Amino acid sequence: MNFKKHVLFSVLVLIIPFISLSSEVLFPRWEEGMYPLSEIKKLDLKKAGLKIDISEVYNPNGVSLVDALVNIGGCTGSFVSGDGLIITNHHCSFGAVQAASTLENNYLENGFVAKCKEEEIQAKGMICKIIDSYEDVSEKILSAVKDVTDIKERNKTIDKVRKELITQAEAGDKTIRAEIAEMFEGETYVLFKYKFFKDVRLVYVPPRSIGEFGGESDNWVWPRHTGDFSFLRAYTAPDGSSAEYSKENIPFKPKQYLKVNPDGVNENDFLFILGYPGRTYRHKPSQFLKLQEKYQLPFISEFYDFQIEQMLKLGKGNPSLELQFAGKIKGLANTTKNYKGKLLGLRRLNLVNKKVEEEKQLQAFIDSSPELKSKYGNLLPEIANVYDDIEKNVSRSLWFGQMSRSTILISLANSLLECSVETKKPDNERKPAYKEQNLPQYKKSFETALSNFNIEFDTTILAKLFQYAINFNDDSRVDAVDKLIAGKENDTQIHDVINNFYDDNDLLNKEELDEMFGKSYEELADIDNPVINFVIQLKEQQKILEEKNSYNEGLLDKLSVNLNEVKKIWKKTEFIPDANNTLRLTYGYVRGYTPADAVYYSPFTSLKGMIEKSFLGGDYHIPNELYQLYMKKDFGKFRSKNLNDVPVALLYNMDTTGGNSGSPILNANGEIIGVNYDRAYEATINDYAWSEDYSRSIGVDIRFVLWVVENFGAADNLLKELKIN
Ligand code: GLU
Repeated sequence: MNFKKHVLFSVLVLIIPFISLSSEVLFPRWEEGMYPLSEIKKLDLKKAGLKIDISEVYNPNGVSLVDALVNIGGCTGSFVSGDGLIITNHHCSFGAVQAASTLENNYLENGFVAKCKEEEIQAKGMICKIIDSYEDVSEKILSAVKDVTDIKERNKTIDKVRKELITQAEAGDKTIRAEIAEMFEGETYVLFKYKFFKDVRLVYVPPRSIGEFGGESDNWVWPRHTGDFSFLRAYTAPDGSSAEYSKENIPFKPKQYLKVNPDGVNENDFLFILGYPGRTYRHKPSQFLKLQEKYQLPFISEFYDFQIEQMLKLGKGNPSLELQFAGKIKGLANTTKNYKGKLLGLRRLNLVNKKVEEEKQLQAFIDSSPELKSKYGNLLPEIANVYDDIEKNVSRSLWFGQMSRSTILISLANSLLECSVETKKPDNERKPAYKEQNLPQYKKSFETALSNFNIEFDTTILAKLFQYAINFNDDSRVDAVDKLIAGKENDTQIHDVINNFYDDNDLLNKEELDEMFGKSYEELADIDNPVINFVIQLKEQQKILEEKNSYNEGLLDKLSVNLNEVKKIWKKTEFIPDANNTLRLTYGYVRGYTPADAVYYSPFTSLKGMIEKSFLGGDYHIPNELYQLYMKKDFGKFRSKNLNDVPVALLYNMDTTGGNSGSPILNANGEIIGVNYDRAYEATINDYAWSEDYSRSIGVDIRFVLWVVENFGAADNLLKELKIN
């Protein structure tokens, strides 16, 4: 480092601690970003292209576009009418549509249209929430652990304070559920209060051949031609409070809803998205990525592929089983293809090595100053040590995670046992699912699990999990499995063990299961059910691993605070927290890209492209009516002048991830012009590293949505409600 730089650096080190984190002085020109609500006011959105006042987008003291946003079953949605009408993706409502479908009334295949509110049907299992308020509680949490150095004690105290804050926030208002989001690990915590709606109904769902056009062939791929949208409605009790489904309930009146703009947008137009991105890992060190590349991504994609293969085999020639498996196949296939995209991206970008290189430079920077060296000198080696320890158990931890949820038999035993432990605690110390108010819903999930049970599938998956455990090396043995199969060498003997589990097991009988629900851990152990006994043994080892993992996470939390601190000094900038299921804003432009050498993708697809793909058959099947309409070129007011066709999907450089599905795509005036639903294959790596070169997200154009609604099911009432007719 030269002298001038050294002086500048020393000055920075001295002044940085006095510049609060909220200072605008240090904010860089953002190039990526899922901005939390607290950061929106620091952006120059006007300069970027926004034509309305920023307070119309977000206003903590009044009504703004943010109030039209809905978190719905892990996806995002938005209110598009004053009567609680919500637009989201087809793939977000998929499970509810499947649950409402029978072979006679197959809404999944044929679509669903309610011609009036009375015809709307329950979207089972869908709960939506809207933000009521939020508060930074970092100080409240961190002051409680100021003098706590022991990691276990620190973890315990943070957990306790978090639970206390949640209980306080929920006290006195039954319609409020509170959640605390960790924004920067170990550093910033925000408490969100949400209002919940438990009565959600299906309003309009296109036929599967439109809503899922292109299937897995086109998933995570541009160009896409999928009409991935659906309409739902949130209902409340007549007094406006949140209530379970009931005929007496009335449509919810949101404070704000989005205006639909059927005029669409053009290439390079400014756009923004409000939504609930799930998880990103951009601030994680190289070792985290290495573990993802080496263990998580290959193991999960292989295991999910196996499960999909089994379901496809079993469903062949059996339409009712095919319908039963549809949602599960879709979910697993979505993950496995995303993981394969990530693996490819990691290799293509050489990301782990790049991070390693960056960390070397950071270490050199730290070592170049005595002050920094004394404070951060051991930081990177300490982080590496923790990850070394994590790596020792990573395969087994992944396996335990899958074991407890991949088969219905084991997950029932697991849930019963966990429930018996949690419900023994005072309500405010339980995990959220086991709180008194959530127990009825939890119990219902047992019924759903039983109704989805398929013995062939369950036994095959359990056998596969046993196989994985049998193949683990000597220092990763799973004791419960070893004990069970001791002396049994060949596959037939192992299958016998598994088949015995299922033979007349009370866990698979609704009445018996109901009876077990309220039992204590000891009582469950006394039943002498072979599966419960096996899971008890599994849990003993799992508990030790979990404690180790949570200890390591606690350590990493503490080390991350220092890592962020020194990185800010190094890069002379602040960072945006990784996505964590909280409401974020991202902005950008309608834009094409170059996915590979000599290839350019333009940013709009059209009906013409959909028809052309349909000639390929398979995943590209379309309703005959769609073809006829296209041939008539009857595009009405949804024709784009530029394309001379109906635009189907659009591509843009905004920063999105899973959870952003269903997010409204807004134009410069804050009007909805599309619904976000996917990312390009190259952009599956977004979760680890964003780049303007390849990070592209995909949405369905509102003109296609409206054209479909107008032509499939003639939902005039819906177009009227959207103020289109
Ligand atoms: N690729 C997904 C789909 O279209 C959704 C995107 C996501 O899971 O983040 O089904």
